[in-house]
Amino acid sequence: MTMDTRLCVGCQACVLACKAENALPEKGYRDWVVSETRGEFPTLVQENRSERCNHCDDPPCVSACPTGASHVAEGGAVLVTHYKCSGCKACIAACPYNARYVHSEGYVDKCTFCLHRVQRGEKPGCVDICPTSALRFGDLSDPGSDVSKALRSRKYKVLKPELGLKPNLYFLL
Ligand code: SF4
Ligand code: SF4
Repeated sequence: MTMDTRLCVGCQACVLACKAENALPEKGYRDWVVSETRGEFPTLVQENRSERCNHCDDPPCVSACPTGASHVAEGGAVLVTHYKCSGCKACIAACPYNARYVHSEGYVDKCTFCLHRVQRGEKPGCVDICPTSALRFGDLSDPGSDVSKALRSRKYKVLKPELGLKPNLYFLL
C-alpha cells in the first residue's frame, strides 16, 4: 500500500470506512490518522498520514505468537486467525507500530488489507473511500501496478526503517 502524504487531508474517512467495513467494536481501530507539524513559523509544514499495520516482511508479531494465530497469508498479508488467538497480547508487545488491539470479544485484531474485498477484485475499504485518492493498493511484484509505478516515480519513506522489519506501507513524500 502507498499513502500519498501530499494528498491526505486528514479527513478520517479511511478510519470510518474501515470501522464500517469490518464491523469494528466501538473502541477498536485498524487504521488511524497522524498529523505532524514540522519547521518554524512561518514556514511550517503539516504531514498527514493514514497509518495501519505495515504487513512487515519480517513480522515480530508472528514470531511472538505462541498459538500460531498470527501468521503470514499467501501474498504477504499478516493476519490473525481469531479462533486460535488466546488473547495473551504477546503480539501487541512485539509490534513496534502499535498496529494491534484487543477486540471486545477477546481476540487480537488488526488490519487485514481487506483481503475479503481484494479477493473479490475490490480495493480495501480505506482505499476505496479516500476522497483524494491518497491511498493505493496493489501487487508490488507487478512492475505495472499502481503501487510499483508510484514507488518508481516518487520519493518515499517507511516508518521506523531502522528496525529492519521491511514494512509494506510506503509513504509518498
Ligand atoms: Fe487522508 Fe484519504 Fe484517509 Fe482522508 S480518507 S484521512 S484524505 S487517507
Ligand atoms: Fe506485525 Fe506490527 Fe508489522 Fe503489522 S506492523 S506486521 S502487527 S509488527
